[in-house]
Amino acid sequence: MIRPQPQPQPQPRHAAQPPAGAGPPAAEQPQPVIRLVSVVKTYGAGEAAVQALRGVSLDVHERDYVAIVGASGSGKSTMMNIIGCLDVPSEGQFLIDGIDTSALDEQQLAVLRNRKIGFVFQAFNLIPRMTALANVELPLSYAGARGAERRRRAEAALRVTGLAARMQFQPNQLSGGQQQRVAVARALVTAPSLILADEPTGNLDTRASHELMEVFDRLNVAGRTIVLITHEADVAAHAKRVIGFQDGHIVADRRVAEPGALPPLLGQPVQGRPVHGPVPP
Ligand code: ADP
Ligand code: MG
Repeated sequence: MIRPQPQPQPQPRHAAQPPAGAGPPAAEQPQPVIRLVSVVKTYGAGEAAVQALRGVSLDVHERDYVAIVGASGSGKSTMMNIIGCLDVPSEGQFLIDGIDTSALDEQQLAVLRNRKIGFVFQAFNLIPRMTALANVELPLSYAGARGAERRRRAEAALRVTGLAARMQFQPNQLSGGQQQRVAVARALVTAPSLILADEPTGNLDTRASHELMEVFDRLNVAGRTIVLITHEADVAAHAKRVIGFQDGHIVADRRVAEPGALPPLLGQPVQGRPVHGPVPP
């Protein structure tokens, strides 16, 4: 029997070379942060069974910025919940950093989720009658960080999302856009490498959506991998890759910019809002 020989792979021209004798050969493809292999998700059983994912395979690499688009009910949130370790596939494999999550128990999954993933939802899910700062400190309390350290890190996360002046405000004293930026700060405060957002602009007006997307753009520039679900074309336009979902399948996968490149709309003026100076008459 003839075995196929491994083919030499072209070396990426700009890849950092490891010192001789250290690490894997440079010709190896970088490992995806997220890998789904033929993932099927079925809710319920028998007559009532719903197949939300019907064999989804997807690799996402570090620093990518992915928008998932598709009709309501097409399986987007189901996939996001699997990527976020909030749910598990019925069939197929899901790997994070090359680790097969089916080999992990609940406790190990929770640790992975806390270390690696920041989640942002459509409904901001902030705790009322607690300041923005206290909301953002919460994940650190769960992680056992000390008071001063918690405060320092929560303040830094709120500054990143542009809320330095609103730290002592409670959710009902903030606009929807500001509340969502508190939620993003809360997702960021544990320094996750992966940010997942399920229709994060779904409850925001156009202007607040753009401000939120500018935050995501900057987080991506800072090295975070972002996967977000959206219905809106002008939100998807911020991403480097757009994946279309239909009936539990990926039906489109469009690459706009490479994972290592800058986000396509970074620093672009928003229509109707000048970057410098007053609005012309
Ligand atoms: P999307 O986010 O694209 O709107 P979902 O992933 O939420 O889609 O849902 C995909 C399909 O799975 C839909 O038919 C939905 O009704 C069904 N579904 C989602 N969650 C559940 C659940 N917990 N139990 C039963 N069916 C579900
Ligand atoms: Mg959904």
